[in-house]
This record gives sequence, C-alpha cells and structure tokens, in this order.
Amino acid sequence: MTRNAFGIPISDSLCPDCNAELRMVEISPQVTVAQIFHDDTCPAFATIDGQGK
Ligand SMILES: [Zn+2]
Repeated sequence: MTRNAFGIPISDSLCPDCNAELRMVEISPQVTVAQIFHDDTCPAFATIDGQGK
C-alpha cells in the first residue's frame, strides 16, 4: 500500500477524474485535517466547489 509523507494510506481511487492528492492541512494550531486536493481542471472538484458553501 502506498503511503504519503504523513504515513496515510493513499487509495488509487481518491478521485476517478484526476490525480487527486490527500494532504494534511493545519487549519489552526494543533488541528490538522486531511483534505483531498483535485486538479484545477477536475470536473468533480468543480462540482464539490459549487456545493461547498
Ligand atoms: Zn478530482
């Protein structure tokens, strides 16, 4: 199994439309969350972004 720099397993199916990447993002001190980053051109990303807020 592939793991990223944080030791988190990376699935081959994070996103069917792009090479989405899982990254740990520190949103505040001592609070880190995993977020999936899609390519800018990813249609799934556009859909998620449109529904997000
Ligand atoms: Zn994607």
